[in-house]
Amino acid sequence: MTAKLLNDSKVSNSNEESFSHLVEQKVLSLRRNIISERADKIADVVYRSVNVILDKVSELEPRFTVSEILKVGSYFEGTKIDKIDEFDFLVVIKELSKPGAIHLNKIPDVFDEGYLIYTAEPGMVQIKLQDDDLKIKWRKYVVDDFLTGFHHPTDIHKRRQGFGSLILESIKIFAKTQHEWRNLFFEPGVNMFFNRGGLTLLSISDSERVILKTAEVHHPNTVLELKYDGSRISVDLSPAIRYDRVEDCFEAGDCVDERLAAAVLDRGSILLVAKQGNYFRITFTETEVKFMRDKIHGVHKLIYMYLKYIKCLYAKQASQPDVHPFSSYMLKMVCIHHDMRCTSENKTVSKCLDEVLDLMADYCEKDDLPNVFNTRLTYLDIRDTESEYRLCMLDGLRKIKELAVENPTEAYFNEVIKDVVEQSANTFDVTREMRFKKADRAERRFRAECERLRKVNESETSKDCLPGSMLSQRETDVLQTVTCEPRLAH
Ligand SMILES: [Zn+2]
Repeated sequence: MTAKLLNDSKVSNSNEESFSHLVEQKVLSLRRNIISERADKIADVVYRSVNVILDKVSELEPRFTVSEILKVGSYFEGTKIDKIDEFDFLVVIKELSKPGAIHLNKIPDVFDEGYLIYTAEPGMVQIKLQDDDLKIKWRKYVVDDFLTGFHHPTDIHKRRQGFGSLILESIKIFAKTQHEWRNLFFEPGVNMFFNRGGLTLLSISDSERVILKTAEVHHPNTVLELKYDGSRISVDLSPAIRYDRVEDCFEAGDCVDERLAAAVLDRGSILLVAKQGNYFRITFTETEVKFMRDKIHGVHKLIYMYLKYIKCLYAKQASQPDVHPFSSYMLKMVCIHHDMRCTSENKTVSKCLDEVLDLMADYCEKDDLPNVFNTRLTYLDIRDTESEYRLCMLDGLRKIKELAVENPTEAYFNEVIKDVVEQSANTFDVTREMRFKKADRAERRFRAECERLRKVNESETSKDCLPGSMLSQRETDVLQTVTCEPRLAH
């Protein structure tokens, strides 16, 4: 009996090892197109094309002279999977990034007759310009004393002065000088696209050309679609301001771990990225990219890419388009949380994946996934229709592992992934969730809102329900604001 147990545990250990190996092989195969000379060349060509466009922008509008084009996003942090199809850059505005150029204003809570009508989102600030020259120079981008996110959402004429509009105008000038104007559809300040052909941006050789197909302004960022060597590549450009007084907007105590806090402080500056209106978001993007690229344990990085892959399969399988159980950013946060607390001496994918899944389940249960740099920010939102889908994916991940450990061969692993995702995704119907869970959600939301308000202002206990605020979100947004609905009748 003892001999048999020993034998079983040996088999199971070696199966767990094989499972770790399978995940590793899977991730490597998903990165086959990413780790290649061709990908390096594409990254280089894209970067140079962006440079060419931004040089033209600063010619048109010297205020938007750029001091740095920061390579961010999954390709540059070494976690991209699948295709080489997107690049993200933060474009640092030189003049506003000089030490002492700006002053940050933390957004205060707004009360009306004792009722909280607006509570500031942690991680958001407003910007005031410091010296008089800058105030004059940037006055058309200042509203009510505060710098706007380089655009004017309400004024159509002024919208043309926005950062994104200037990118479009620059491209238009190239198109005109190159006589590639005829096939271009252009809506100033909004978008442009070539219905045939495209604009040649730069030539490496006669056979390899970078062709711009479309450019679209999604304030505050602008997305270009390029074509190079048979690949379509989406390029996201977001204007940013470098700010060197880190201690103004970063509390080491809010960070999940002191090593991470030290990394933020050592860097010596943070980046402010334009958001809606005159709000800017505090970001630690550079520290984060470096952490994911060089610091996180290799096993945890593998797990992150494996989770992204499974997440994409669930998104593809969803009954409605664009329903992702988790965003990549949420998965990244979970993996960094695990990296900070992982105590395993011998880290294996198999062992750490179990812990990561437990951690995810725990966050889902609490509807709380804290940002690692500022734990006062959370990414999971009880309003999300996806919250049930997250549980489906977690169950699926456990099931995949259980079956693959029983029979750890590559062919079976691939089959298991496909079958489990299909089956578990089919049990989830977004439209049904939205219909049937609405009442339940409204009540949970109400309870959560009351709880939150109780924390915000302990002294005011008589409030039944207060109006909340809603701001539209991007996928990587820092906080979902909770809205309050009237109390449900029982
Ligand atoms: Zn671990």
